[in-house]
Amino acid sequence: MTTKLLFTENTFNYTHENAEVLSVTNVTDKQSKIVVLHETIFYPQGGGQPSDVGYITNGSVKFNVEKCTKENDVVLHEGIFEPNDATFQIGEKVNLFVDKETRLLNASIHSAGHLLDLAVKNAGFDAWTPGKGYHFVQSPYVEYNHNNQFKVEKEMMEKISVELEKLLNDNGTVKIEYVSFEKATELIGSAPTYLPSDQPVRIVTYGSVSCPCSVS
Ligand SMILES: [Zn+2]
Repeated sequence: MTTKLLFTENTFNYTHENAEVLSVTNVTDKQSKIVVLHETIFYPQGGGQPSDVGYITNGSVKFNVEKCTKENDVVLHEGIFEPNDATFQIGEKVNLFVDKETRLLNASIHSAGHLLDLAVKNAGFDAWTPGKGYHFVQSPYVEYNHNNQFKVEKEMMEKISVELEKLLNDNGTVKIEYVSFEKATELIGSAPTYLPSDQPVRIVTYGSVSCPCSVS
């Protein structure tokens, strides 16, 4: 089974019609069920960004999606059927509705992480390499690695704040594209070791600066 990931192409697509149901299974010890579709607009938790919520319906039956996860190439939509004893049939076509507010908030916080990366770069701290990004509403952060140990001074933070402010006022365009590993290396200016070299890399470009963004 494979789920086609429609959200990688359009962040602002909150509804989708006629996705085919591939399976409906029980979650052990819970009332919840797991629905798998052949394609989805629901973003599963990953890449530091929380899962989408929303609902899936065929008209008479509603499935409230409480969280989504990704296992290999399959997105698992976990939630509760309404009415509780209802279900979807395999092969049935259903309509998808992602909660717009939650998605926009999560995507904004994620983008803020990328903007911070750019601000750090623009402030001249080239040796800081972005590590883990955590884009949850509760205490989001980005970790930076550096070869040498040093104390982060107040002036450094101020420099980054100034650059961040510039980027925000700049109102630059955001472009998303999939490119080869070689092209990605060229765009970013380095070859990050965490990128897979055998598959297309998702590149987000803010204004004139590009960075890799996994929506794993
Ligand atoms: Zn990203």
